[in-house]
Amino acid sequence: MPRQNNSTPLWSLATVATKTGPVACIEVDDGLYDLQASLRRVGEGAADNSVLALFDNWELSHELLNKASVTLDQQDRVDSEIRLAPLLYPGKILCAGANYFRHLAEMGVEGATKKNQRLFFFMKPPRNAVVGEGSTVQMPLDTQMFDWEIELTAVIGKRARAVSVSDALNYVGGYTVAIDFSARDLNRAPETFYKLDWVAGKAQDTCCPMGPRIVPASHIADPQNLHLRLSVNGAIKQDDTTGDMIFSLAEQIATASRIMTLDPGDIILTGTPAGVGVPRKEFLKIGDVVDAEIEGIGKLSVTIQPVSDT
Ligand code: MG
Repeated sequence: MPRQNNSTPLWSLATVATKTGPVACIEVDDGLYDLQASLRRVGEGAADNSVLALFDNWELSHELLNKASVTLDQQDRVDSEIRLAPLLYPGKILCAGANYFRHLAEMGVEGATKKNQRLFFFMKPPRNAVVGEGSTVQMPLDTQMFDWEIELTAVIGKRARAVSVSDALNYVGGYTVAIDFSARDLNRAPETFYKLDWVAGKAQDTCCPMGPRIVPASHIADPQNLHLRLSVNGAIKQDDTTGDMIFSLAEQIATASRIMTLDPGDIILTGTPAGVGVPRKEFLKIGDVVDAEIEGIGKLSVTIQPVSDT
């Protein structure tokens, strides 16, 4: 569970599967509560039964969620164990590429400095790439080099356009964990003019699992000081800190918001630390279990499946 690091009530947001469809939840230490019902107890109904709607006016939502989290009623408990992605669905998914010093070094880039690197983004398709925990991630067709990347993920809580670095974190509503699953062989395209194919390598169906919850930004004291750890079948592969990022989240938001408007409910994957499979020639296979955990947020666990059209 998230740690308590300030005086605001400790709660987070999740979406779970039930017999009647996805249910948005407020989560506290003792479990999950129906979001809409819990907000009604403090006099407000969510616009609809979704976490996404909360980000349209995050400042107000945050205040209401603080109130709701201390007036929860056992009648509103939700017992589902199946966590979908907490946000169904993000508006857009921006992903920072090659953004940790030690990850660049393991990929063969020597002497990377902030000055000689340029922050860049690629995108994943929200509806098809975002999945929750469990048997959700499908190995892309035609890859022999399917790899993992744990990433601290920010949810935008306020419309941002050309914002300054110093102001940028005020546009973050919350944080979650995502895995930027990557088909390394399909990402390389030496026979093309551009040499890289970001769509084939990174934008495949189910290759952006998110979860287990969204922790409000108010509960994360410093996004540049969080421990991240990813394991495959229990063996730790990535074990590092967000302090190794080349471009901070604030710099990423400032840069991205000069390219395009960041809307509430958009997400930014902030890059991955060292420990991916490709330098060691280790890749995923069907049945592998990938656990991705970030301090203060929690653990997202997925199992790799074959492609299925159901
Ligand atoms: Mg990545």
